[in-house]
Amino acid sequence: MIGIRWIDFDHIPDRLSGLIDLSYNLWSSWHPEAQMLFKNLNKQGWKESIHNPVLMLQQLPPEILQEGSENPEYTNQYDAVIAKFQRYMLAKNQWFTEYYPEHQRHKIAYFSAEYGLQHSLPFYAGGLGFLAGDHLKECSDLGVPVVAIGFMYSDGYLHQRIRSDGWQEDVEEKLDRDNAPIKRVLNKDGEQLILQVPFITPQIHFSIWRVDIGRIILYLIDTEIEQNPPHLRNISSRLYSSINEMRLLQEIVLGVGGTHLLHELGIQYSAIHLNEGHASFALVERFRQKVEAGLDPTEAWRQVKETSLFTTHTPVPAGHDKFPHWMLDKYFGQYYGALTMTRDEFLKAGSHQEDPPDMFNMAAFALRMSAYSNGVSVKHGEVARKMWHFLWPEEKLDDVPIGSITNGVHVPTWMNPRLIQLMNRYLSPICPDWLDHHDKDYVWALIDRIPDEKLWELHYNLKIKLINRILQFKRRDWMKYQADCANVVAGGALIDPNTLTIGFARRFSTYKRADLIFRDLDRIKKILNNPWKPVQIIFAGKAHPADDEGKRILQRIYQYAQQPEFGGRIAFIEDYGEQIAKYLVQGVDIWMNNPVPPLEASGTSGMKAAVNGVLNLSIGDGWWLEGYNKKNGWIFGDNQKNSGGDRDWEDAIELYDLLEKEIVPLYYDTNLDNVPHAWVQMMKETIKSNAPKFSARRMVKEYVHKYYIPAISCTECNNAFEPFH
Ligand SMILES: *Cc1c(COP(=O)(O)O)cnc(C)c1O
Repeated sequence: MIGIRWIDFDHIPDRLSGLIDLSYNLWSSWHPEAQMLFKNLNKQGWKESIHNPVLMLQQLPPEILQEGSENPEYTNQYDAVIAKFQRYMLAKNQWFTEYYPEHQRHKIAYFSAEYGLQHSLPFYAGGLGFLAGDHLKECSDLGVPVVAIGFMYSDGYLHQRIRSDGWQEDVEEKLDRDNAPIKRVLNKDGEQLILQVPFITPQIHFSIWRVDIGRIILYLIDTEIEQNPPHLRNISSRLYSSINEMRLLQEIVLGVGGTHLLHELGIQYSAIHLNEGHASFALVERFRQKVEAGLDPTEAWRQVKETSLFTTHTPVPAGHDKFPHWMLDKYFGQYYGALTMTRDEFLKAGSHQEDPPDMFNMAAFALRMSAYSNGVSVKHGEVARKMWHFLWPEEKLDDVPIGSITNGVHVPTWMNPRLIQLMNRYLSPICPDWLDHHDKDYVWALIDRIPDEKLWELHYNLKIKLINRILQFKRRDWMKYQADCANVVAGGALIDPNTLTIGFARRFSTYKRADLIFRDLDRIKKILNNPWKPVQIIFAGKAHPADDEGKRILQRIYQYAQQPEFGGRIAFIEDYGEQIAKYLVQGVDIWMNNPVPPLEASGTSGMKAAVNGVLNLSIGDGWWLEGYNKKNGWIFGDNQKNSGGDRDWEDAIELYDLLEKEIVPLYYDTNLDNVPHAWVQMMKETIKSNAPKFSARRMVKEYVHKYYIPAISCTECNNAFEPFH
């Protein structure tokens, strides 16, 4: 029996007891009415808990809860939200069950090293995590039977502080596990369940936490327990260790341990989806389990392959982990014995033509062991087929079996609730359940019914909201630390809501070229400081703690932001994360993106901007090659060129030309009513053309039709695998 240890909620009155379940389910994070339910209980408590309902409920004094339970206005709201939540959780007629009733019981085990779900859960580094989080939320909305595995990173948050010389400092913050929306998984005696990674030496133990994401359960592995010696406890402390051996340990625990966890919890599943190669060892553990259950090794290998999907997310070779054989031997020594496959056979399955012969490449292994694999945009699919052609030397390039499914974003998470409300007002009379069909073009075509000035007014308000957030933090720094003026300005104190605002926020990896727009300082100064048509840029993003080159780029930008000659029109917001991302993608006018092609496999922040009517100004790479339609934003840079000094220069010139000749004039071309109608037309066009196409709904449906159904349809693969329990 699996139990959940409840924290003390005795002070919650029975009348409001539904708040407990609701607070532990992230469903509330993408339903504004549920957020309001917590906020209306106590505004200050909601704010102080930084919108973490579990923490808030634990901290609220009983009187406030009692008061809420006796206030009819509040209890009415409560009843409505709880009823909606219960309807959602118990719904029988979801998309998946209607489309594939015969597959309701066939679960897909989804593995990812990171998940971006909500800001109180620091289990992400960037795009890969948000993609995984959005995928799970959408699977819940559509009723796709997924069970997910990941890590409980207790030191997941490295907060970013910028020193006054612009250097990034990484400030650690430990997660308070018992105050987060996660629950311990217990054994039948009510103790925390402790498992061991099978056959791996030395012994590694782990405990498990669960996160409820609507109807989907995500299990998180935690090695920070006393059963482990100190040097093994921190395997799950932090994302992506830069020490290779620690990284190997993480990937062993995620893949082998995660697969074992499903077995021990009695969770039956019919297919595996690997979100990137960090969990590739899941495939070998599944193979081992099948052989242990009595299957012939050749057949077991075939079955694992037929039921596995591998999604690759990066064309950067350094993005694929590899480990020397001696290192694997160190931990897999005993495991090889249990494999019924020789050590050499196993290791050979991880070879890569460009690696030394004694290296094990996680992506190569996953590709060899999965019948299904895909890249994350049309372009990335092409690049991946070229990159991995050597694995299928007998095939023509176009026949390399790596497909593509372009990424998408979870619309209810990223679209501003007030924009959803505005849409409701104008769309509902014609299409009342438009939000349920948000992957359909016809829904969004109705957006033309919204008058330009209404959309513009809302957009302006969201911009003010972003700016208020910036000012609030800078005012605090000013009062609390007497921050010097240059830093208050660099933090955005002179940002102005009536100025064309460009947003640029992403990890500071070198290939993303965050400083491209500063290639010609005189020219950019002129653009920013145009007295009649000024422009401002808001930057945000973290460099990886070990990436000094990334930190130097960030420092350069920060120093420009401090210089008086830029007029306070460059701002850098510290500590980019889920919350700042929302303010930015909903509140700026333009979302800029200028990586070196073809290194951006897809990108997703531009999609989040697009669903909010923020126009993309991007290099032709990743998703934008599919998203751009000449009417919904701008494309620049020639993606055939080689990288290097010249290419940066040429791309920068194109960017300046576009800004000066097209973008700035268009933005400031307003009527007497002060509305830039042509601009608003483009906003509508960008929502119309991009929201359905780059929704996680479209993406998940594609995964289901193209890969999940074929993988779970391998009936003999499932019959041969006895149900547990
Ligand atoms: C969406 C998102 C990302 C990924 O954005 P890219 O466009 O892929 O760089 C990274 N961080 C946060 C906080 C996000 O919300």
